[in-house]
Amino acid sequence: MVKIPHRLYLTEDEMPKQWYNMRADMKELPDPMINPATMKPAAEEDLYPVFCKKLAHQEMDNETRYVDIPDEILEMYKIYRPSPLIRAFNLEKALDTPAKIYYKFEGNNTSGSHKLNSAIAQAYYAKDQGLKGLTTETGAGQWGTALAEACSYFGLPLTVFMVKVSYQQKPFRKAVMQTFDAEVIASPSDTTQIGRKILAEDPNTTGSLGCAISEAVEKAVSSEGYRYVLGSVLNQVLLHQSIIGLESKIAMEKLDEYPDVVIGCAGGGSNLGGLIAPFMQDKLTGKADPRIVAVEPASCPSFTRGKYAYDFCDTGKITPMAKMYTLGSGFIPSANHAGGLRYHGMSPILSKLYHDKYMEAVAVEQSKVFEAAVLFAKKETILPAPESAHAIRAAIDEALRCKESGEKKTILFGLTGTGYFDMTAYEAYHEGRMSDYIPTDEELQKGFDSLPQIP
Ligand SMILES: *Cc1c(COP(=O)(O)O)cnc(C)c1O
Repeated sequence: MVKIPHRLYLTEDEMPKQWYNMRADMKELPDPMINPATMKPAAEEDLYPVFCKKLAHQEMDNETRYVDIPDEILEMYKIYRPSPLIRAFNLEKALDTPAKIYYKFEGNNTSGSHKLNSAIAQAYYAKDQGLKGLTTETGAGQWGTALAEACSYFGLPLTVFMVKVSYQQKPFRKAVMQTFDAEVIASPSDTTQIGRKILAEDPNTTGSLGCAISEAVEKAVSSEGYRYVLGSVLNQVLLHQSIIGLESKIAMEKLDEYPDVVIGCAGGGSNLGGLIAPFMQDKLTGKADPRIVAVEPASCPSFTRGKYAYDFCDTGKITPMAKMYTLGSGFIPSANHAGGLRYHGMSPILSKLYHDKYMEAVAVEQSKVFEAAVLFAKKETILPAPESAHAIRAAIDEALRCKESGEKKTILFGLTGTGYFDMTAYEAYHEGRMSDYIPTDEELQKGFDSLPQIP
């Protein structure tokens, strides 16, 4: 009998050398980004003031199926990749389920999440173009940390606008970013015009991702030789994150396995888009038909209660508009603990696939998410990030349904990161202080009212 390992690490040589671009296999493409100045589809050149050239190209490239990963990026990937594919034997036993549960663990690096996969690529291309520095926003802090690591590795200055509520709740995140030489500013701040405007309207605002994006973009376009980078949502980010799914698929093939269901948490959609990439390719090309499930917080339900419409990617309405599932760029979600899932919109690629019924979505409540996180930590000995625990919740629910029905499904989910900077959230859960805020239809309507009118 073949012994099934708990953890399967691919060798360095087995690591993919190319990213995969799902758009090349989509029957219908996502609608193009619109430049708000002209109300016409944005051209690649329109993006050059904001993004560096190679990334602007990746953003617009709907044709190239496989993109070579530059050697410099592969070298840094090898510091922490390939990441392990783990069979959750202990969790299966605890649930008494006939289902097989696998997870791909992306928390094995200092930044503690999958975000480093794209941060390295974005910092590399910026350095390669000879830029002077980068700006970005960070919500929960994982993206800022990942980018700070990557920028320091390639020797690029970085300014991070950190959503104020996280800045206050997670001072140690800031300290980690400073360790990697990043300048960290609480957003909204008085260092930008848009920040000053937002503060004048609401001095007590705890900020939002959309607002921090506006500040970071403003700072980039007004500083010579600077560009802005974003850690999720964009097509280029999903491309970089495809390394997660490509590795998972190779590892599962070695075990003679194929998932019936692939589950991932969805904030802006990058880890999910990356994890599902090669499985979605099988679906799009008719080779296989796994179910694909996005999991989002009930407090910020972009897929399950949002509208599929053109919207700005930021509160300040200065970015190009993208067609996506959105709650409106004016939507500010309640202060739930999964900071990385608090974005108003969703990847245009995933939005299109969801709209065309290639994938499903569920919304889960926070206390149920932490219940799953705690069970998972005890059984698998990894303390999950609150964001990742959304996927755990859905995977557990799927496994419990298998227990009822007796189905022996193979479940694959993405464990995007660790939760060591989220202990105030765990503490609130342990002390019974966690609330499950679900926005009312009236509250969502306010966000929808902020949607731009497209003729
Ligand atoms: C940012 C983050 C997410 C959500 O972002 P996506 O772009 O939707 O993947 C999920 N998990 C962790 C740990 C994160 O840091």
